[in-house]
Amino acid sequence: MRSPVNLRVAVVGAGPAGIYASDILSRTLPGTAIDLFDRLPAPYGLVRYGVAPDHPRIKAIVAALDKILARGDVRLIGNVDVGDEIGGITIQELGTLYDAVILATGAIRDADLDIPGIDLPGSFGAADFVSWFDGHPDVPRTWPLEASQIAVIGAGNVALDVARMLAKHVEDLSATEIPANVAEGLAASPVTDVHVFARRGPAQAKFSPLELRELGHVPDVDVLVYPEDFEFDAGSEAAMAASNQTRQVVATLTDWALKDPEEARASRRLHLHFLHRPVEVLGEAGPDDVTRVSALRTERTTLAGDGSAVGTGVLVDTPVQAVYRAVGYFGSPVPGVPFDHVAGVIPNDGGRVLGEDGAPIPGLYATGWIKRGPVGLIGSTKSDAQETIRNLAEDVGAGVGLRAGGAGAGADSGVDVIDLLEERGVPVTTWSGWELLQAHERALGEAEGRERVKVVPREEMTAISRGALVS
Ligand SMILES: Cc1cc2nc3c(=O)[nH]c(=O)nc-3n(C[C@H](O)[C@H](O)[C@H](O)COP(=O)(O)OP(=O)(O)OC[C@H]3O[C@@H](n4cnc5c(N)ncnc54)[C@H](O)[C@@H]3O)c2cc1C
Repeated sequence: MRSPVNLRVAVVGAGPAGIYASDILSRTLPGTAIDLFDRLPAPYGLVRYGVAPDHPRIKAIVAALDKILARGDVRLIGNVDVGDEIGGITIQELGTLYDAVILATGAIRDADLDIPGIDLPGSFGAADFVSWFDGHPDVPRTWPLEASQIAVIGAGNVALDVARMLAKHVEDLSATEIPANVAEGLAASPVTDVHVFARRGPAQAKFSPLELRELGHVPDVDVLVYPEDFEFDAGSEAAMAASNQTRQVVATLTDWALKDPEEARASRRLHLHFLHRPVEVLGEAGPDDVTRVSALRTERTTLAGDGSAVGTGVLVDTPVQAVYRAVGYFGSPVPGVPFDHVAGVIPNDGGRVLGEDGAPIPGLYATGWIKRGPVGLIGSTKSDAQETIRNLAEDVGAGVGLRAGGAGAGADSGVDVIDLLEERGVPVTTWSGWELLQAHERALGEAEGRERVKVVPREEMTAISRGALVS
C-alpha cells in the first residue's frame, strides 16, 4: 500500500463540493497530490452558473473558494470533460494516473415533469433559463422572452429565483454581473404577470424565509397571495411547530394574503398560488400553424391531513404564453461510472461508490449533489465532503486497495496529465488562467461601475485564461 504522502487523487468537478473535498483531503492527508478537473474553463459550478445574479452575497462565496485554490496545494485543471476521450479524459485513464477519483459532478439539467403539453414551444426548464441568465457558455445566447403572462411550476427557491428574474425590471439588475446578451433579452420582455404554482399549502412551501421576503422589495413588482389558497391540516401544524423557517414563511405569506389586491399599483405582478397541481400545458395554433403554450391547467387540491395534497377534480385554466418548470435538478451520468437513473445520483455508501454487486469500488468516491441528490445549500456540500474524505482516509489507513490498477502508475510513471491533455489537443485552463479571467471580468465591470461582467463564450473564456487575450 502506497504511503498517504504519495497519494495522487483526481477530483472531478470544481463546484463547491469538489473544492471542499479537495480542501478537506489536503488537510486530512497532507502531501496528497490533488488535481481538480472541471469541464468548464472556469471553476465554481452552480455558484457561478446557478446562484442568481442579484444575490451578490452568495456570489461572494467565490472569494472564499478562491482562497482555497490560491493556496497552491490543489491543482485546478479546467476545460476537461471527464468521460469524453476526445475532449477530455476517461475514468479508465484517470484510474491509471491516480490512486483515487472523487466524483463531484453536481447537476445542471431539469428533472422531468410528465404532463401533457410540457414539450410545447413556450414551455421551458428552469435550469436552462438559469444557465442562460447566468451566462453559461454551453447554452444559446438568446432566450425567447415574448410572453406577458408566465407560469412557474414549483415551490422552492429555484422557482422564486426564476419568477423574480422574470418579473424584475432590467434596470434593477444593472449593477449585477449579467452579460450584455442577458440584459438585452430581459429589457425586451413584455411580461406583466408571473404566476407561481405550488401543489401543496403555504406550510409545505420549500422557500427560504429570506428569499421569500426579498420578493416584497422588488421595485415596481406587486406580490399577490390569495386567501382561498390558505389551508392548514395537522401535517401543516406539525411542520410549523417543528420549524422556525416554516413559521416565518407562513407569516410572510399571511401578511401578503391580508393585503387588499386593489392596492396593487405596480406595472408587474408576481402571484403565488397554493393548492394547484399542474395537470396539462394547453396549446393554441398561431397564424403560422405552430401550436404554442396558451394556458396552464391546474387542479385545485386539498390537504389530506399529513401535509400531502389530493385532487378535488376542480380544474382551473390560467392563460399564459410561457411555462417554466422548476421541479428540481437532476444529475447526469459520467461514462464509466455506475449511475442510478431513477434518483439521478451515483450509487454510494457514505461517498464510497457502489458497483452493480452493491460492493464499494476501490478508489472511487462521490460527493455533493451527485452523491446525495440536488437538494441543499452550498454549506451542506461541506459536511458531505467531510463524510466522503473520512471514508477515503479510512480506506487509505486500512490499506484497502485504492485503484489496484492505478497505484504505482501515476506517481511513478512520470506522465503529467496536463501534458497528456495538451498533446490530445485539449486547451486546459489552470488557476493562473482563472486569475486572468477574473481580472478581465473585473476590468469589464469597472468600466461600467459594476463588480464584474461575465465573459460568456467558451472560446473567449479559454483564450483569456490561456493568456491569448488580455484586457
Ligand atoms: C438555480 C440555483 C440557485 C441556487 N442558489 C443558491 C443560493 O442562493 N445559496 C446557496 O447556498 N445555494 C444555492 N444553490 C445550491 C448550490 O448551488 C448547490 O448546493 C451546490 O452548487 C452543489 O455543489 P456541487 O459541487 O455538488 O455541484 P455543482 O455546483 O453543480 O458543481 C459541479 C461541477 O462539476 C462539473 N462537471 C460536471 N460533470 C463533469 C464532467 N463530466 N467532467 C468534468 N467536470 C464536470 C460542472 O461543470 C460543475 O462545475 C442554488 C442552486 C441552483 C440550481
